[in-house]
Amino acid sequence: MPQPNELGATTTSAGDSADQKPAAPGGLSAEKSDTATPVLGSAGLASPEPAGGVPANCKVFDAHHPPQEELINDCVHCGFCLPTCPTYLLWREEMDSPRGRIYLMKMGLEGDVERMDKTYVQHFDQCLGCMACVSACPSGVQYDRLIESTRAQIERHYPRSVADRLFRWLIFSLFPHPARLRAALLPMWIYRRSGLRWLLRKSGLLRLLPKQLQAMESLLPEVSLRSMFSSLPMRVKPQGTPRLKVGLILGCVQRVMFSDVNLATARVLAAEGCEVVIPPGQDCCGALGMHAGREKEALQMARKMIRVFEREQVDVIAVNAAGCGSNLKDYGVLLAGLEARAPRHPVPLRVAYQDSCHLQHAMGVRNEPRKLLSGIPKLELQEIAESAICCGSAGIYNLVQPDTAAELGERKARNIIATKAEVVVSGNPGCLLQLQASLGKLGHRIPTMHTIQLLDASISGTPAAGKANGRRRQNQQRPVSKG
Ligand code: SF4
Ligand code: SF4
Repeated sequence: MPQPNELGATTTSAGDSADQKPAAPGGLSAEKSDTATPVLGSAGLASPEPAGGVPANCKVFDAHHPPQEELINDCVHCGFCLPTCPTYLLWREEMDSPRGRIYLMKMGLEGDVERMDKTYVQHFDQCLGCMACVSACPSGVQYDRLIESTRAQIERHYPRSVADRLFRWLIFSLFPHPARLRAALLPMWIYRRSGLRWLLRKSGLLRLLPKQLQAMESLLPEVSLRSMFSSLPMRVKPQGTPRLKVGLILGCVQRVMFSDVNLATARVLAAEGCEVVIPPGQDCCGALGMHAGREKEALQMARKMIRVFEREQVDVIAVNAAGCGSNLKDYGVLLAGLEARAPRHPVPLRVAYQDSCHLQHAMGVRNEPRKLLSGIPKLELQEIAESAICCGSAGIYNLVQPDTAAELGERKARNIIATKAEVVVSGNPGCLLQLQASLGKLGHRIPTMHTIQLLDASISGTPAAGKANGRRRQNQQRPVSKG
């Protein structure tokens, strides 16, 4: 739950009028600044040198890409974004809305915030980065750029507690590094398979762990050893006349926890006539770090990823994890769709489609996955109520803000259960983990799967439900044809 609003923010309702400004924290007055600097963001790979400058009286931001004043001023305080913001929906606190957060950035920039302390930072920490506000904003406010630069400033200037720093260190030492993640998952596999997990849950001992570790434990997927250590060939042959050379990004979490999603992606692309190239040496694309404000390491990872793919002369790059996709799009990698060619077999299932925030809000991709699913004969597509609202996964959010994430996860799970779906599909590994955990907590074992797995099942004519997470799997490691 949010802390009491020590900044003195008022509670307002959604759709407040344009001339109603958010309450100034602490009753401080804001003076206008005349300094504006470009924001680097993840798109700033093309601009390696920081462009910067902050007003002399700014006490919380340095000159390296502060939130940009002209982007802040695009906000006309209309409040249209408020009903789509998950944290505003939960707490009705202005400072936990997009408009309030933008106002806090303005205050920080203009010297009206004395210190980067918990009172100030918590409102940015509580933002999921779901970008629902970006899709809702009629003025085109680039909140994604603003929160990215603010988070990088927080990362540099806010002294987090030792426990928080340790936990974040653990996350960023593991998740963006597939080999380390694999090594860490091995004891977790034993923990799950040996019955120790069941015992600890049953005895209530798990509740003695810090909440963030409890959240991490609850998200552990049921991943098999074979899946964990599977690998893909460097090239996969197209079926029929070749039409495109596609580079496949494996994703760091995806390749370890959902390797069958990568296999399915390669098979579907090959069935559609694509030569699939999977360059070795791929690490994380930098998305996790960039969304958490760890600019330096994220840019290093992004540069490495570009080098790896530059060696291959591919026509397009395919990515099947929405969080990675939105980051990659920012650094200019081309994503493309294909008109379907491979015949589809019927999949007689009632399927609920969960929009990943990075797909629907950050990239504006809503219709394409629905079109793909609707093209599968006998599939009954169900819409989930409040589809614009985040499930609480949001990168590392469900690890660092477990209470809010659990609340949003439960809300999403109830909406899914109401659809009476037999399978839930989504285009992001983080969402799949969050949905499994949230449905499980409510005692529902609705299987989850990636959109591409369902498509793969339809093209290959194999049973779809058997591939889903949360069910005993069949044909899990069907091979792909090497090139
Ligand atoms: S990114 Fe999501 S949580 Fe953050 S302000 Fe926008 S809508 Fe709210
Ligand atoms: S961010 Fe956009 S929608 Fe939200 S208050 Fe500002 S202008 Fe209005």
